[in-house]
Amino acid sequence: MICPTCKSDMIVVEYHDIELDHCNDCHGVWFDSAELELLLKSLNLDSQNLLLDDIVKSPEVESSGKKRKCPICNKKMKKTNIGKHPELFIDVCPQKHGLWFDGGEVAQLLKQLTGKKPARQDAQQQVISFLGETFEAEA
Ligand SMILES: [Zn+2]
Ligand SMILES: [Zn+2]
Repeated sequence: MICPTCKSDMIVVEYHDIELDHCNDCHGVWFDSAELELLLKSLNLDSQNLLLDDIVKSPEVESSGKKRKCPICNKKMKKTNIGKHPELFIDVCPQKHGLWFDGGEVAQLLKQLTGKKPARQDAQQQVISFLGETFEAEA
């Protein structure tokens, strides 16, 4: 799959049953439609606010940058905010093919979600360090 940001070829990374496409150049990550939910479920995290259906319906955020195109259907993706503190802007395909996270944004999202649960489980720690290593942006 081609990276929607820098057009490099992405590599597939696997975590349990989840396959994600990761760009080695810009460190962005593509989640196919159900993969974000799967990832959150595997971490026992509440994904209620992060279902693709809801993300697609959430309001579009104005951005000055060029719109990215879905690597599957090539339609322009919609930019929307799924974070709180700090805000987290991701791209979503209007046809629900999936979601695009820029480098470091997955780790940020997980931090926000797990931050609400002080009693962490080992599995969560593991995945966070896994994702942190794989996805942390190198600024
Ligand atoms: Zn890239
Ligand atoms: Zn698409």
